[in-house]
Amino acid sequence: MKSQEALARIVEGVKKFQAEVYPAEREMFERLRSRQQPMAMFITCADSRVVPNLFTQTGPGDFFVERNPGNLVPPYSDFVGGVSGGVEYAMLVLNVPLVIICGHTDCGVMKGLLHPDHVHGLPAVQEWMRHASEAGHRIMRDHSDATEEEKLRLITEYNVLAQIENLKSHPSVHSRVTSGEVGIRGWVYDIGEGSIWAADPESGRFNKVGATKPE
Ligand SMILES: [Zn+2]
Repeated sequence: MKSQEALARIVEGVKKFQAEVYPAEREMFERLRSRQQPMAMFITCADSRVVPNLFTQTGPGDFFVERNPGNLVPPYSDFVGGVSGGVEYAMLVLNVPLVIICGHTDCGVMKGLLHPDHVHGLPAVQEWMRHASEAGHRIMRDHSDATEEEKLRLITEYNVLAQIENLKSHPSVHSRVTSGEVGIRGWVYDIGEGSIWAADPESGRFNKVGATKPE
């Protein structure tokens, strides 16, 4: 798709939003005009197929969102501005009661960790992926014989668990976790299936959320 074509399609969407969606939800948008009180901070990948408000059936004002390649939270000591600032704001200004870190299937960053040649010539991506290297090491150490598919699933889960630990290294999070003011959950979104897998906080095992079958 060319640039003009892409822009035209997006502008069509803006027109439709203004003509149909906004008028139907006017009250909600006016309520949100000058304040937000999100129910969670949602940290996920920049991947275009991951749409948190869609798969959780939430809307404007519900999530304070941080997105970046690989849904990474650099440890506080590394002080990476954007993510650290978002975390601090969510904790100390918005006082969100919950943080969800959500990875996903077919993640380019996870594949890059398994196959560093995939990110050859991408120095910024390589540098950023450093914050996910622990999950890669864990795969090499414990699952070097696993199938490719299994490795990708496991590295995606391990990365979410590692990012939860990184998140806890932020002082604003640490104090609120200790006092029980904020809960942290790790999820993996399966794009092709539309399913969500949540980490058990004790065992770190991932189980399907809302496992009622649609049929
Ligand atoms: Zn991704």
